[in-house]
Amino acid sequence: MATGKINVQADNIFPIIKKFLYSDHEIFLRELVSNAVDATQKLKTLQKIGEFKEELGDIKIEISFDEKEKTIIIEDHGLGMTEEEVKKYLNQVAFSGAEEFVKKYEGQAEQIIGHFGLGFYSAFMVSDKVSVETKSFKDEPAVLWECKGDTEFKIKKSKKETRGTKITLHIAEDSSEFLAEQRITGILNKYCKFLPVEIKFGTKTESIDDPSGAKDEKENPKKIDSIVENVINNPNPAWNKKPADLKTEDYNNFYRELYPSTFEEPLFNIHLNVDFPFNLTGILYFPKLGNTNNLQLQKNKIQLYSNQVFITDSVEDIVPEFLTLLHGVIDSPDIPLNVSRSYLQSDGNVKKISGHITKKVADKLSSMFKKDRADFEQKWDDVKIFMEYGMLTEEKFMEKAQGIYLLKNTEGAYKTIEEFKEEIKEKQTDKDGKIVILYASDTNEQHSYIDSAQNKGYQVVEMASPLSSHIVQMLESKLENVTFARVDSDTIDKLVAKEEVAKHNLSEDQEKDLKEVIESIIDKAAYTVVVENLSENDSPMLITQSEFMRRMKEQSAAGGGGMMGMGNMPDMYNLIVNANHPLTSKILMEQDSDKKSKLAKQAADLAKLSQGLLKGKDLTSFVKRSVELID
Ligand code: ADP
Repeated sequence: MATGKINVQADNIFPIIKKFLYSDHEIFLRELVSNAVDATQKLKTLQKIGEFKEELGDIKIEISFDEKEKTIIIEDHGLGMTEEEVKKYLNQVAFSGAEEFVKKYEGQAEQIIGHFGLGFYSAFMVSDKVSVETKSFKDEPAVLWECKGDTEFKIKKSKKETRGTKITLHIAEDSSEFLAEQRITGILNKYCKFLPVEIKFGTKTESIDDPSGAKDEKENPKKIDSIVENVINNPNPAWNKKPADLKTEDYNNFYRELYPSTFEEPLFNIHLNVDFPFNLTGILYFPKLGNTNNLQLQKNKIQLYSNQVFITDSVEDIVPEFLTLLHGVIDSPDIPLNVSRSYLQSDGNVKKISGHITKKVADKLSSMFKKDRADFEQKWDDVKIFMEYGMLTEEKFMEKAQGIYLLKNTEGAYKTIEEFKEEIKEKQTDKDGKIVILYASDTNEQHSYIDSAQNKGYQVVEMASPLSSHIVQMLESKLENVTFARVDSDTIDKLVAKEEVAKHNLSEDQEKDLKEVIESIIDKAAYTVVVENLSENDSPMLITQSEFMRRMKEQSAAGGGGMMGMGNMPDMYNLIVNANHPLTSKILMEQDSDKKSKLAKQAADLAKLSQGLLKGKDLTSFVKRSVELID
């Protein structure tokens, strides 16, 4: 038996590893299983090139644990190591200034492990002692290496006869949580679910056809319970297959494999496969987003893999933010995983990858639009918010998406912006030559306003997503001679102003009188009374909220920059009085001041009602008053 010193610069590296990497200690299993997978894959390669001529045999990697012995064992049948290799690979922790480095990256184990070849040493985060028994595929004696988490190690010949490596972790007292089936299953499911070599952990009961050939009463093979190996991974996940070999059903099945607790089917997917100038494979799924208000909830669903080893599900530094709304997997050995996040953002490869994915996603949407417009329209309501998010945050995406961004009118017809402009150009161009796109954020609540727009022969589009006001703003800046106006932001004649609307015919005294009555029955801080020259057929009173004010408030509520505090401002409305309505004349003529204000209140409440602003006590007394008026 030989003993020796592990070659590290700082003698106390192991306590440091243990202490500082504590928060991420579960990754020891990922590291050791990945090594086992690598050793197995390498052996397969050696066989292919003729350097290994024997049978591979059962090459499953086996994980087991013993609660009494306090051990976890990871055993592979890969290429193994000779004594010389053990000394070379396991005794060398090749970095200097370890202590300083580890301190600097406190709590960020991911960045240290792997990057500095600490993979194997992560075993010491959870173990008092680690033994490695290994036999190389070369005709050399097996060896047993042991280390107690200090810098001393022992090495001796071993009786191991089978090829491969068996790593036994003697789990430390403070890590006993790992000596539990559930905990190990959890870690394996998280990191090893798609590793390319089968990994077994214990057994499971499965219902199989009776091997005796017995049949049930329906002449189907009789089923019996059988104890089988529990293979925890799918070594050949869908993203590694050719798109031509996969049907929609296969993609959907894989989606369920990724997200077992999601019931909703994805809308469609993109299969990524790039090998130049970087390697990247993956499948991105479009979830049904609808008008979801909580975009945060949708994020962190994309899983990032490196050669089928799970790395992380927070990919926000690797893909543009809007893409984090998608689900699925990205697998790339070219993404530097073990460096700091700020470095990632400036990394050339990462930038290219992110640009490439953005382009692929935009291309997919364009080709769907071109190939099957009806199908695209059918999916539109669910991808709209994703498109908006992308258009608002990625210039490159915007360029490609603007042409296929659809406006849905209140009749349910979908038009591109250009198509829609063409349709409404004639009727909805105002006196300044601007095409006015009228929109509604809630077709129910704004029904009466939509109605009066339609009476004029105008079309109204639905803009109900939480990003709508941002999109409207952006489209206005991109499109020439187009403005957007919410249908309830002014009287329809003013929204699409054709010519100067003549002033009403009321005298100054009459206007003053009207304003006084109305101001006495409403909250003056919230409503500004304006008398206007509307048609006799319009409502007697109308409430509008200026487009400008509302956008500011909405954008600040949705987290728009530069408008801090606007969200807390009270809402301000215009109460527009129709000078030409018979009811207005009636209010003016009424001599009894009590009756006069009752009439005014009734008309104002009606206007509030159609804006959804009449609530609680006010609504109750409105109903009462209405009944009195009918009597
Ligand atoms: P890395 O995997 O990043 O090279 P590790 O510390 O995890 O760093 O492993 C160091 C080396 O030890 C590996 O490159 C490999 O040559 C060898 N090794 C580790 N585990 C095994 C194993 N199960 N079978 C064969 N060789 C292994």
